[in-house]
Amino acid sequence: MRSPKALATSALATGPRDGSQAIQRNAGLAEEVYEAILARLMALKIPPGSRITVDNLVRELAVSQTPIREALGRLEGEGLVVKTHLVGYSAAPQITRTRFNELYELRLLLEPDAASRAAAVMTEEALAELTEAAGVMSREGGADDRARYSQFARQDALFHDRILEVAGNALIRETLAHQHTHFHIFRLMFHARVTEEALDEHAAILAAFAARDPEAARQAMRLHVERSRDRLLPAFDL
Ligand SMILES: [Zn+2]
Repeated sequence: MRSPKALATSALATGPRDGSQAIQRNAGLAEEVYEAILARLMALKIPPGSRITVDNLVRELAVSQTPIREALGRLEGEGLVVKTHLVGYSAAPQITRTRFNELYELRLLLEPDAASRAAAVMTEEALAELTEAAGVMSREGGADDRARYSQFARQDALFHDRILEVAGNALIRETLAHQHTHFHIFRLMFHARVTEEALDEHAAILAAFAARDPEAARQAMRLHVERSRDRLLPAFDL
């Protein structure tokens, strides 16, 4: 499994894509094809649960089947694409309300506690990395809003994963990484508010880390996860 960190690093290397144009053949072809398909999934241009036809992508992206199959395999590992024997690929179904509630219950059990432990052992190096990850999210790029949103989802995954890494329990980190939370929740709703408010909440978490204050970090993370849940819940009423 590719770590969220590896994903984020490669995203930064290639920059945001909106996937709306045929892809130029170059050394980063596999990565660009991946980015283009990911952007379609995050923007719901490939709707949740719908079939993904390799031949269609060959035409749309003007590349051969090989990088497309490679990208679909990678997205399958990340939980965004499902491969069914004899049927082929489809976009993962939209997360259900029940599953969403379960996911946030799990996050609230694990992430505030992890933030508290991370604050207690925070190094200058880790704090600088987290600050950088949070900073990337707030930058305005030349990309369109949906491409930015897809990048935000990935950076948010990196930010939360890095905190779990610092906290030091590898099993908890793997358990949450396996949920692919950020891809699923960001597919629920496209809204600028989701990103703007989260930036302030991340800043509060970082301030608690900078102060090496475990209790403040716990509270800031709990508030962030609760608010994230409350921002996204209306998506189920649409
Ligand atoms: Zn976040």
